Amino acid sequence: MPIRVTDPLTGDTITASLTGSALVISPRFGESYSFDRAARLLALFRDGRSYQRTLDHRVLGRLSGRNGPRRRELPPEEALTLLERSFASLEALRAALPRLSLSAGDFRLLADALDRVLAFGPERLAADGATFRRLYKPVSILPPDQYLALVLQATQGCSWNRCTFCGLYRDRAFRALSADDFRAHCAAVRDFFGEGITLRRGIFLADANALVLSMERLRAIFAIAQEFFRLPQGPRPIFSFVSAFDVGRKSAAEWAELHELGLQRAYLGLETGDDALLRFLNKPGTVADAIEAVHALRAGGVAVGVILMAGIGGDRYAEAHVAGSVAAVEAMALGPGDQVYLSTYVSAPGTEYDALAAAAGIRPLSAAEMEAQRQELQARLRAVAPQTIVAPYHVDGFAL
Ligand code: SF4
Repeated sequence: MPIRVTDPLTGDTITASLTGSALVISPRFGESYSFDRAARLLALFRDGRSYQRTLDHRVLGRLSGRNGPRRRELPPEEALTLLERSFASLEALRAALPRLSLSAGDFRLLADALDRVLAFGPERLAADGATFRRLYKPVSILPPDQYLALVLQATQGCSWNRCTFCGLYRDRAFRALSADDFRAHCAAVRDFFGEGITLRRGIFLADANALVLSMERLRAIFAIAQEFFRLPQGPRPIFSFVSAFDVGRKSAAEWAELHELGLQRAYLGLETGDDALLRFLNKPGTVADAIEAVHALRAGGVAVGVILMAGIGGDRYAEAHVAGSVAAVEAMALGPGDQVYLSTYVSAPGTEYDALAAAAGIRPLSAAEMEAQRQELQARLRAVAPQTIVAPYHVDGFAL
């Protein structure tokens, strides 16, 4: 049961929810703090603004925009001031506890939570962020339903890394960890999260295309991941991106075996159902490969997440992009466990797409045109995949 009590001195209503996988403490109306069970601050709301504290210890102010949430990273001094004010407020609440009308049990629960939270203040949080940065290469992106996943970097980078619009992994070469290195990574991840692991749901096997590895390597990776993070009721579900082009390297029986080992859903960044646009983007494979890939995965019991990108291809490809994407998703015959996500094109620094599009005489779509295309895709995809979630995917400003 959440705790709710009024401070007789200030009149503030204090609430706390301390028994779930996250701790939430609100010293007064309009101010609240969320922590994982290791007492690590993850989010806060105060002065009418909400903020995310990322695991690598940046503080992002959330702004809502016409095209979904946007975030602003606070400069370090501003972030530190915000954290210091927040922890001062929690310290004041700790000092106020004796005057509150709490049962002995609630007093102990709240006092214990506040003591742990206060022991994990700004200095320790900064050190924790440094540990996270040593443990992980930057986690460039996750599917939107995986933001609370336990990320394990079995591979680093993208095995293709040549799509002209994508700058997610240009900073690293593709590399697979050896079994020993992956075991060490899992041990370090377990130690880093501590009790906070209860907030993490499935495992997300990163980075971009870990499922391209051979069955022999994947069997070892899945076994090690489950050895560390298996749930009491069975294998912890595993999720990962896969390039549609690479799915055919494994048989339906092998996908079924990976499903038995925990693989729940594979996410395919298809971007478009138009072959000409795929070639222009230098994506590997064809639309037919993607449809076959979805059928092979689903035959093995693995659900799929298909990601399409509104706005890509500008005015030149707009009609074929929408028609091809709708036809491709229809041919995939998706079911209730599958998902379709619609991102919107955002220019990534250091990538070639904008210059190539300009050289080809392609007019980029305006923000309003991209949004109209996203909405058209959403409506038509919902009609051809009525059992499947079709949802927006705000890739800009992703942070773990
Ligand atoms: S879009 Fe996907 S396949 Fe292409 S380079 Fe980026 S991560 Fe790799």
